[in-house]
Amino acid sequence: MAEKFILVRPFYGINIHTDAQGEFGTVLHSNDVFPDLPLITAATILEQAEDYEVEVIEAVVGKMLPDELLSKIYISSFDTAIVKTTAASFKSDLEVAHRIKKNAPGCTVMVAGQAVRVMKDWIYDNTDVDVVIDEPLDLYIYRYVYGADADMNDLPCPDYTLVDYRQYIDDYNNVRLTLQASRGCLMGCRFCPYVRYYDHYEERDAAKVFEDFKTLASLGADVIQFRDQFFTCNRNRIKEFCRMVIESGIKVRWICETKLDSLDRETVDLMKEAGLFLICFGVESGDKKILDAYSSHKGSFDDQKGGIEYLRSLGILTMAFYVVGFPEDTWETIETTYRYADSLDSDIVAFNEYCDFDLSGIGSITPDVFASFENSILTGRPTNLTREEILYAVELFHTMYTLKREPLKRAYDYNHKLVLHNRSVASEISKYEKDLISMSREIRVVDSKRF
Ligand code: SF4
Repeated sequence: MAEKFILVRPFYGINIHTDAQGEFGTVLHSNDVFPDLPLITAATILEQAEDYEVEVIEAVVGKMLPDELLSKIYISSFDTAIVKTTAASFKSDLEVAHRIKKNAPGCTVMVAGQAVRVMKDWIYDNTDVDVVIDEPLDLYIYRYVYGADADMNDLPCPDYTLVDYRQYIDDYNNVRLTLQASRGCLMGCRFCPYVRYYDHYEERDAAKVFEDFKTLASLGADVIQFRDQFFTCNRNRIKEFCRMVIESGIKVRWICETKLDSLDRETVDLMKEAGLFLICFGVESGDKKILDAYSSHKGSFDDQKGGIEYLRSLGILTMAFYVVGFPEDTWETIETTYRYADSLDSDIVAFNEYCDFDLSGIGSITPDVFASFENSILTGRPTNLTREEILYAVELFHTMYTLKREPLKRAYDYNHKLVLHNRSVASEISKYEKDLISMSREIRVVDSKRF
């Protein structure tokens, strides 16, 4: 008889991009609903293999709260359940796993995501979870099914028809699906959560990437977002992919994330012709000493500013990421970062609170290290600025940046409204991390008062 899996991605009233930050996940202050690519790919592997069946329960897309999710799971029949966790929802995810196990003690319950990898020993010692998956879920499932390690070319094109993929809607109402043409990064910036999880850089052949792209286009994706950490690490391969897209005549807009200094004008021209409309890149800090301390090398493509201007001249939007609150940061250095961001003038910015993803060397850790429903890791290591100061700066920088470019109302709507909502949900529901029924009730109460 076929072994039946259910893959579960819970939802707690707060939008979390679960495969961001190297699968630690990120609380989003936007309405973008992102798929979890390793989860969909894992489901595809199971679907395509003999002797396995799979059901994906995507609470995120239907905004299904934990009480409904558990009811749905309780009436499902399965042999193995896998709960995809994030740092922000860690305690509640483990509670979902516990409830599943309690209701179906004969079944195997697994948990996945980078947060469970770092908490592996604690989970085995303190919960009834059967298996902690301490690597990307798709790689684990491939080995489970085929008894061999997968490389990027072994992984199937994610089968989005396994879920209600039309619900993966971005803030502009586009159906946005994700792909990966490579995984990992050769750079090794010390603060990077991705390189801790994807421990080496690997590429998928350009022809396969093109086939994946074609498949998602045929499903009606309005936008395809590449979730690579360093999309243009190998420019020749990307140029090959772009030529295939151009020759095919497929017109789907796409997004990638890369290092600005890996680009040149010829590659960018080709990417634009193939449909690139938004490029995301890390700038991280305006303070060179801090970048050096973290082995984070940023710089040319016409020294960043020239590159951004060139991209703008082609009509390609730019999104720059900055980190605020490195332990070495002071008011002066974060102001330098803000001024530098302002001078670069990317179309979109994300100022993110620094997170110390290296949890080694801080003694025994408990789930309290993850701030509930926030993007914070609370290691207690010394920093020059307090957390309140950093959060103040993050929000202020977003507002100042937007206000200089947009009307006040839009700056408020875009930067503050969802932050407020998320905070109010977080403060209500963090009291109920072990009581998912009361948590669901509280989320409904907060949601009913929304805006
Ligand atoms: S360049 Fe980006 S993806 Fe690569 S290690 Fe640095 S932060 Fe991580």
